[in-house]
Amino acid sequence: MTSISASKLYKDIACPFCTLLCDDLSIRNDKDKLTVERHGCAKAIKNFERNEPKVNPTIHGENVSMDEAVNHAASILRSAKQPLFAGSSTDVEGSRELMALAEKSGAILDHVHGDAMMNNTLVLQNKGWIMTTLAELKNRADLVIFIGTDASSRYPRFFERLIWDQPSLAGLKKNARDIVYIGDGMDTRSGTSPDGTKPSHIKCNNKEINETVSVIRALLNKVDIQTDSIKPRRLTALKRLCERILSAKYGVIVWDAAEFPASDGDIIIQTISELIKELNKSSRFAGLSLGGNNGGTSFMNVCAWQSGYPMRVNYSEGYPYYDPYSYSTKKILQENASDALLWLSSFDTSLGIPRTDAPTIVLSRPAKRPAHEAEVYFPIGVPGIDHRGNLMRTDNVVSLPLKKLRDIKLESGSEILNKIRQAI
Ligand code: SF4
Repeated sequence: MTSISASKLYKDIACPFCTLLCDDLSIRNDKDKLTVERHGCAKAIKNFERNEPKVNPTIHGENVSMDEAVNHAASILRSAKQPLFAGSSTDVEGSRELMALAEKSGAILDHVHGDAMMNNTLVLQNKGWIMTTLAELKNRADLVIFIGTDASSRYPRFFERLIWDQPSLAGLKKNARDIVYIGDGMDTRSGTSPDGTKPSHIKCNNKEINETVSVIRALLNKVDIQTDSIKPRRLTALKRLCERILSAKYGVIVWDAAEFPASDGDIIIQTISELIKELNKSSRFAGLSLGGNNGGTSFMNVCAWQSGYPMRVNYSEGYPYYDPYSYSTKKILQENASDALLWLSSFDTSLGIPRTDAPTIVLSRPAKRPAHEAEVYFPIGVPGIDHRGNLMRTDNVVSLPLKKLRDIKLESGSEILNKIRQAI
């Protein structure tokens, strides 16, 4: 491995800890201790500056050599009839290796955010949608409507980087955007403009979001609304919003599928997508779906490039078979339909490893309390800190290169997956 000099400042670093992938961080390495000097949010600081505990590969909790752990993991996969690869939290290179290992061992592939990401994908597959990019949002949107998400709770620098940042290539002035929130339990403070203009907030609970978006569609289509089916105050606010929608030059509706109820998230997303299509008959409107943290966007794209399907594919017959419903991690484990679990988590040690009686192989960023559920455990490096790599941004159009910032002798997930594949 290349050794990194004692104290060095890295500039324009991409942050892998949410799918905004902010690429303007300055990070100092002082004897392999990292400090975020510029532009990191609290989430980035916590993750870049974390002291990784020193842990070894283990089998049943006992320290072993890397070769022993690799051979044991390979023997589990060799004898399994239906392995499940879950978590799948990694970068592009890790996703490629995970797919190659799935193909060799006949595994099913899902992601830790599979439920939310599939709700988006089902809408895209069934009826299509009109989406935009982060750059278009920043440069053109004069009206931004957040449905069910405040964006900043899960993507902390969203407003700093994309809403209030200047200059805008399309000449939008600093305070020229209108911000509207629809939903409840949101932190709307970031929506206040630099000159102090407060955002609008139409309150409704999560179960009422679909109905609220449907009322907007009805109002825009001049359908009579039964006033006893919606609170008068909300109806007045929605009528005002419709007037603003009709005067917008470029409107964007932002959502995060993970914040909708899992059971009917696809229905809400479909209603929003149909509203956007209708608006494009006479105006310019687009959607922006946030999501795909923990390498989810990268994993889904790699899966699509290599198998033709977004995820939830099964290689047990030697070819990729897609089933978005049957191959969810939760369903497979509930039905005891898998006899080996491989869990991969490169960025976050707090993602709960699912409980199962099947032998479990865990590849994870080092944790103080090693994964007791694991029959075999491998500590792995973080993409963008311990090794180079690439990640796809939430809008699916850009992949950002990640740098190696320190050398604490952690192998990457893709290197270990490759070793296991060679040992099978
Ligand atoms: S907003 Fe996301 S990508 Fe940007 S610095 Fe924070 S965690 Fe990293």
